[in-house]
Amino acid sequence: MDLLKKLKSGASKAADVAQQTVEITKLTTQIAGRKREIEKNKTLMGHEVYEAYKKGDLSLAEAKVGELCISIVELESEISSLEQQIKRVRNEKTCACGKDLAADAKFCPSCGRPQIHEHTEVITIDVLPSTEAGDAASAAAKKQDGESE
Ligand SMILES: [Zn+2]
Repeated sequence: MDLLKKLKSGASKAADVAQQTVEITKLTTQIAGRKREIEKNKTLMGHEVYEAYKKGDLSLAEAKVGELCISIVELESEISSLEQQIKRVRNEKTCACGKDLAADAKFCPSCGRPQIHEHTEVITIDVLPSTEAGDAASAAAKKQDGESE
């Protein structure tokens, strides 16, 4: 790592931690919102079933209950993907035994394996503007030159 990169990474470390906290808070809030939504759907389901019961035909609730179940399944899968995102942001690792660990864990609390510390660096590559268009144009110009001869 050259000096400039070293300086940059030091300066951005604090910002990274702050950014990480913001990101996790955001994801946690999104999860809480979906959990509330699931509870609301379950309450609605009960309501639908009871109304159908009062009308003497539980099958009246079937369509609505089915819709609510589908939406709960969707919400649950969104929650699990949000939980995955939190894990990524926290830079958690998985032990060989399958247990999720904090990135700085020295030993696995489940199986006791010592954990190797891999220093992970975020590598950013500056993408230069594509020169393909220019190359194509010059190639076309060359080709034309060739043809005119
Ligand atoms: Zn383990």
